[in-house]
Amino acid sequence: MSATDPDCLFCKIVAGEIPATIVASDERTVSFMDINPATRGHALVVPRAHARDLLEIAPEDLAAVALAGQRLARTAHATLEADGINLINSCGADAWQTVFHFHLHVIPRYEGDPLRLPWTPGPGDMDSIRATGEQLKEHYS
Ligand code: AMP
Ligand code: ZN
Repeated sequence: MSATDPDCLFCKIVAGEIPATIVASDERTVSFMDINPATRGHALVVPRAHARDLLEIAPEDLAAVALAGQRLARTAHATLEADGINLINSCGADAWQTVFHFHLHVIPRYEGDPLRLPWTPGPGDMDSIRATGEQLKEHYS
């Protein structure tokens, strides 16, 4: 049984206690759609085991998250026709971290898109997020 924190939002998503559009999962990781997407297809990869940030995550989990992030990036490139991908991890509040369970942002980029860092999070359209998540799930390999 992985370490969990009863007060942690992403632990609750991993445990299925709060809803999320899950795109993929494996023994060590879960990938799901961000509800405030910076671009179409913005997703997060988290370790199942709770770790606060980059400084705390176990090396095996970090490796598993990186590999799942690469698979998701390849899927977004092929399926959503993303022209580029940003992989972003924020470690610490001063580096923009707001949820303190390690996560890797997989942000598809499109030629000429207006995204600039740091982006200002805002709620996405849930139907469109779910539909894009289904597309990624279907083609994830
Ligand atoms: P960070 O600011 O790097 O810690 O990123 C946290 C991310 O989690 C933000 O992009 C949020 O939009 C996202 N987020 C927060 N709550 C949820 C949720 N319930 N489901 C999916 N994504 C979430
Ligand atoms: Zn957690």
